[in-house]
Amino acid sequence: MARIAINIKEGKVVKEEDLIIGIDLGTTNSLVAYIKDGKAVAVKDKAGKSALVPSIVHFSAAGGILVGDAAREKLITDPANTIYSVKRLMGKSYRDVAGLEQYFGYKIIDDDTESLVKIRVKDRFYSPIELSAEILKALKIRMEGELGRPVHRAVITVPAYFNDAQRQATRDAGRLAGLDVLRIVNEPTAASLAYGLDKENQDAQTIAVYDLGGGTFDISILNLHEGIFEVLSTNGDTFLGGDDFDRAIIDYWTREYQWNPDTLSQNKELSQALRLKAEEAKKALSFEERWHSSLNGSPISLDRASFEELVRPFVQKTLDCCGKALNDAKLKVEQIDRVVMVGGTTRIPLVKSAVSAFFRKPVYDQLDPDEVVALGAAIQADVLAGNQKEVLLLDITPLSLGIETMGGLMDVIIPRNSKIPTRAGRQYTTSVDGQRNLKIAVYQGERDLVEHNRKLGEFILKGIPPMPAALPKIEIQFLLNADGILVVRAKELRSNVEQEIEIRSSYGLS
Ligand code: AMP
Repeated sequence: MARIAINIKEGKVVKEEDLIIGIDLGTTNSLVAYIKDGKAVAVKDKAGKSALVPSIVHFSAAGGILVGDAAREKLITDPANTIYSVKRLMGKSYRDVAGLEQYFGYKIIDDDTESLVKIRVKDRFYSPIELSAEILKALKIRMEGELGRPVHRAVITVPAYFNDAQRQATRDAGRLAGLDVLRIVNEPTAASLAYGLDKENQDAQTIAVYDLGGGTFDISILNLHEGIFEVLSTNGDTFLGGDDFDRAIIDYWTREYQWNPDTLSQNKELSQALRLKAEEAKKALSFEERWHSSLNGSPISLDRASFEELVRPFVQKTLDCCGKALNDAKLKVEQIDRVVMVGGTTRIPLVKSAVSAFFRKPVYDQLDPDEVVALGAAIQADVLAGNQKEVLLLDITPLSLGIETMGGLMDVIIPRNSKIPTRAGRQYTTSVDGQRNLKIAVYQGERDLVEHNRKLGEFILKGIPPMPAALPKIEIQFLLNADGILVVRAKELRSNVEQEIEIRSSYGLS
């Protein structure tokens, strides 16, 4: 049954099923986009100013929930109840985030275990999935306001290095927000789609996607062959971005104007005002040579040359990552055909020129670097809706997948950097006479001992007919689908006893 809906704004009758929205669920900002009159557009706020929805959720004393700009205002006045950067916690266990407590202004409860993190707000605990779902709901509402009708289906982007647990968590967040998530797409792949690189008349090309945002840096090397995207390698720094540039400016002013650093760290309001000034200066210097303003009646200024000196070490760090990504992909810089710029910080002329010099070619920077991933997600959504010629997306798995064998050793079944979708299998047997059950514990990681890797799940193959040790033939199959979700199947081939699980990690929607 096809549902029919009417677009109230335009008075057009549309098949509801035709529309799938594209969502960039970012660490700092999120966006929603769709195809309007054949073109991808990101939906702006009511005032028509910005398409960015800050990825921030605030819980008020009265029980209300704010998302986006309104929540951002609470960062200073009510930090304990204002949650930001929740993407950093998606699919993570307490052990994964140990040592990061300082970074978060809110309370992550800590029980030093393998179970997934929860965030404490007042007397309730929220999972990162629930918090991300609030952001997704806000985006869904924004899109529904734009279209004047409900939307149900979406494509959501994630970083290329996201593991299985993180992808699954993103999918679950979508479901909680009332969205059927048709596909999880890698951010660099989406950015390449936004530039239409898949439509260029070339047999094959290699693309570097340089993504420098507010708090994170990612470089991804993709291969595009006959419309198929493949991630060759990824690298980056999860704590490097425009925020570091802002801090460098503040430190510079503190030295230049001989401010007392203690006064600054004690005066929250002043340090916040300074942070805003620093960001204002940084942004202005992307277009002007000099920036002037005042703070509490005293003049402050910054010129582009001094700014560039301040941030050059950060930019160099990103280039070092690019070098490593090229190495991992076994490519030389001359073999990169296109360089795509993503993230607000790539507006800085020094960043553009340094990246262009590193790769020895002009960069793609015509689209809004904040919007480009969401636009690509909308294009991918349109492809899935059957409105464009099929573009196949092929990705790689960033970490090896395997099972635990004798002595706690990791036996890799799908090696890292394998193209997905993929399947691989191996035969095992029993070690004891008459053994009826076999425990299969699935791990992800590169270390030899499973205890150093991440456990994704386990199950027991039950009912193996009694046989002498080493006689049963137990085939274990791993199937990794295009979203990076893993199904593990175990089968005793003499008796056809079979068992399978879909790896949903140690959490799930209960
Ligand atoms: P994103 O995480 O991609 O939204 O990137 C946001 C970052 O881009 C923040 O650190 C912003 O300060 C920075 N940004 C936005 N516009 C500019 C600009 N014109 N020049 C320099 N940095 C910018």
